[in-house]
Amino acid sequence: MVRDLRNRPLRDLRISLTDRCNMRCRYCMPREHFKSHEFLEKDQILSYEELLLIVESMIPLGLTKVRLTGGEPLLRKDVCSFIEMLPQHLDIAMTTNGILLERYAQRLRDAGLNRVTVSLDALDIETFQAMGDTSEKPETVLRGIEAARLVGLSVKVNTVIRAGYNEHSIEKISDRFLGTDVVVRFIEFMDVGATNSWDDLDVITGEMMRTMLSDLEEVDANHVGEVANRYKRGNQEIGFIESISKPFCGDCNRARISADGSLYTCLFTSKGNDLKSLIRMNATKDNLADAITNIWSKRDDAYSQNRGKIETEKVEMSFIGG
Ligand code: SAM
Ligand code: SF4
Ligand code: SF4
Repeated sequence: MVRDLRNRPLRDLRISLTDRCNMRCRYCMPREHFKSHEFLEKDQILSYEELLLIVESMIPLGLTKVRLTGGEPLLRKDVCSFIEMLPQHLDIAMTTNGILLERYAQRLRDAGLNRVTVSLDALDIETFQAMGDTSEKPETVLRGIEAARLVGLSVKVNTVIRAGYNEHSIEKISDRFLGTDVVVRFIEFMDVGATNSWDDLDVITGEMMRTMLSDLEEVDANHVGEVANRYKRGNQEIGFIESISKPFCGDCNRARISADGSLYTCLFTSKGNDLKSLIRMNATKDNLADAITNIWSKRDDAYSQNRGKIETEKVEMSFIGG
């Protein structure tokens, strides 16, 4: 098992299946910045066989969990065939905006997906469309969530809270899923990428969010490296992802593969480590495992803990994988 300079293992791999998306959330892919953006061409993106090689090479290093993300992972052609290829002893999850989830839920489950996290920032159409800069409707996402539950996927809902936009979603979304097994997690608006005009005045901290909900009771973390601080509200589980006000770098065991095949050891690093070239020069699984061991064992990232003290040129979350 590989450990980094801060003794953190490599457990969780987030794979960006595509840098494209069918929404333009203001906090992630502001339309004005992505209008003339050059998205990756097909041959620049890792094939499923190439991605599988990376996953398999990481298993002896300690990998237990794979999350498919993006961009919007359900836009990638034949995504279910990739899930079928993945070693089924891994915990396989996906983060999606839910627009296409109703259509895919059964096939995703049949292919071996265990869990899905669905992003939903508001239940009212005005806020949903303003934050997502989209003409899609929240009902579409809600139908996706219901379909996922019905086929037996375990479901979490992610809600990014941005000051002045959707504070009201805290109570509304929590109430909407009360009495269900859907875990709702509220996320502090983060300074990822270079285009979302992040300002700390736009951040509603987890502590502030908790004052907007009644009857919260703190509960223990499920496992080491869990990103959300967990609470109960009746039978409901509510999480708060507080990477601005309570950074959790100390336990961070997450690696990311960008859609073009670079390994990133932190959401906020400016440079990835090019695995695609190695793979396309016929590297074996063992060669890749050696390269990844070398990269991970030199890892010292702790951006959130040192926010404000270090400047990096940040890559976009839609590219690196959220
Ligand atoms: N398109 C998919 C989706 O939205 O679920 C997957 C990719 S998206 C980049 C992954 C997650 O990152 C989403 O839950 C999204 O809300 C979150 N996210 C994106 N930009 C963020 C930001 N600036 N601050 C906090 N969370 C952000
Ligand atoms: Fe697309 Fe997800 Fe980013 Fe929204 S958060 S723009 S849905 S990648
Ligand atoms: Fe992990 Fe980097 Fe986020 Fe810290 S800032 S939790 S090291 S991804």
